[in-house]
Order: sequence, then structure tokens, then C-alpha cells
Amino acid sequence: MPDKILVVDDEADIRQLLSHLLNSEGYTVFAEEDGAKGFETFRHRSPDLVITDVKMPVRNGLELLKDIKSTGSDVDVIVLTGHSDEGTAIECLRNGAYDYLLKPLEELDVLIASVQRALQKRDLETKNLQLVKEMAEMAIKDPLTGLYNHRHLHNCLSDEIARSMRYQHQFVILMADIDHFKQINDTYGHLFGDFVLKRMARFIEDNVRLTDTIFRYGGEEFLIILTETGKSMALTVVERLLEGIRTHEFSCDGHKTNVTLSMGAALFPDEAKDASGVIGLADRRLYRAKQSGRDKFDFEEIKTEG
Ligand SMILES: [Mg+2]
Repeated sequence: MPDKILVVDDEADIRQLLSHLLNSEGYTVFAEEDGAKGFETFRHRSPDLVITDVKMPVRNGLELLKDIKSTGSDVDVIVLTGHSDEGTAIECLRNGAYDYLLKPLEELDVLIASVQRALQKRDLETKNLQLVKEMAEMAIKDPLTGLYNHRHLHNCLSDEIARSMRYQHQFVILMADIDHFKQINDTYGHLFGDFVLKRMARFIEDNVRLTDTIFRYGGEEFLIILTETGKSMALTVVERLLEGIRTHEFSCDGHKTNVTLSMGAALFPDEAKDASGVIGLADRRLYRAKQSGRDKFDFEEIKTEG
């Protein structure tokens, strides 16, 4: 898609000249005759660059520049100003203009060069922002399943605890582990094992609420924060997961299998007073569910040893 440029100038000749020139360079051009109309078009057309005259009726170029910057927009503004008026140009630069060009516009290649520089810079900035966003995502997500990773759990859990204290609501930590996962890897190979993990992540996502947060806690272990949830609602989720997975066939590349889950859960703040306490309890209950035969969950009281 071609870059869009907004040209604002009260002189029809200049509007025509710039529109023609920039069109022939492949840009989409919108032209307006004063700062007020220019700002309207800026808001409706979201241009990638603005070129504005300074001296105009209604709202001048400096006012237009300030209007644009006050929206928080990162769109660059190039101002056009007369030779006798470089003071205004400096003032525009102080207010965030990208560049200024002197009128009359004799060297049009200078204008084109400035336009290209501004657009390239913007393109780079957009790509950098995207990259930073992707890296931030990578730092908190498990690459295989796309779920949040163990590292991110600690941030989320301390936020959840803070919310729980402030608004006096409960939440549940649910830990789920795929039964006999090693056998799946040994029997069908690691690729199929990875497929089961990915499919399991989607299955869990489909069976909890959007407000719940799911983590890949370890190899074949998942942790779910059921936010604003008490024990009876958690039990409903647990039963839905346990029953749903029994009849869910994992099938890929000619292999197919069924799996079961073992789960342990703990309720905050009723059963634990901090992050490690609530995770530890859910983990011990998961272990107990495994010990007592798998394909089940444990939410019962554990008497503290000693
Ligand atoms: Mg003018």
C-alpha cells in the first residue's frame, strides 16, 4: 500500500505542484487549504506524513503541528516557510517538526529527499516497535504451545494475589499433568508428543474462561489461574477438563491416542497465604492424584506433616 501524504497549503498552485509531484513518486496525496481542514483530514485519513505551509488562514501551520502532536501521533510533519521567516521554522522544529523547507520550492529533489527520509525513518521505527513487541512476547511465552511460560507465572501470580487482597475475592490454582506422557513419546515419537502438548494447550484454552490464564509449567504440566473463582466453580472446570479429555482423540500423521489428566488444585487465600504456598499445595495434591491412580483430581485437605 502506498504511503499517504497530507499536503496543507493555502496557495492552490503549491497544493497542485506538490500533489502532482508526490503522486508521480507513487504516494497517495490528500490536499487541504488551511490548518483546520488539514487537521480534520489528518484525523480521518491517518496519513504517514504531513507537509504543511506555516502562513495560512484559520489555523496556521504551527497550530496544525501542535494539534497533530497533541493527539500523541508519531507522524512526521515537514513545514514549508518563506526565506524571511526562518524564526518560525525554528519554532516549528522546537515543537516537533521533522524538517523545514524554504519557499519558493525551487529544488524539488530536496523536498522529495526529505519526504523519503521521513518515511524511511517511520518505517524503521514501526519495524523496531514490532520487533520489541515480538521479543517481549517471546520472553513470556512457551514457543511450542504458545501458552505463557514458567517465568511469566510469577508476575501474573503476584498480580492475582494483589487483586485478590484488594477486592476480597478468591482464586484457584489448578495444576494438570498428562498421564503417562513418557509412554506417548516412547511409542509414537517426540513429534507426536509435541503435537499432543500443543493440542492439549488448545483443549485447555477451549475449556476455561477467557479471563483465566494458562501456563506451560513444565514438560507435560500445565498451570491454570482460575481468576475470581471459588471451590465449587473450580470443581466444575476440573470435571469438564477430566471428562472432556477422556473422549478427546489426539490424531496426527496416522497416529492416534487418548490421554488422561491428573490434577491438583488449591484455593487462595483460604488455603495458602502466598504464591509459593498456593502452588506448593496444588502441586502436592497433583502428586497425590498421581499416586492414587491418575485420571483424577485432588482438592482435599492435606494434613501438614509433623
Ligand atoms: Mg501560505
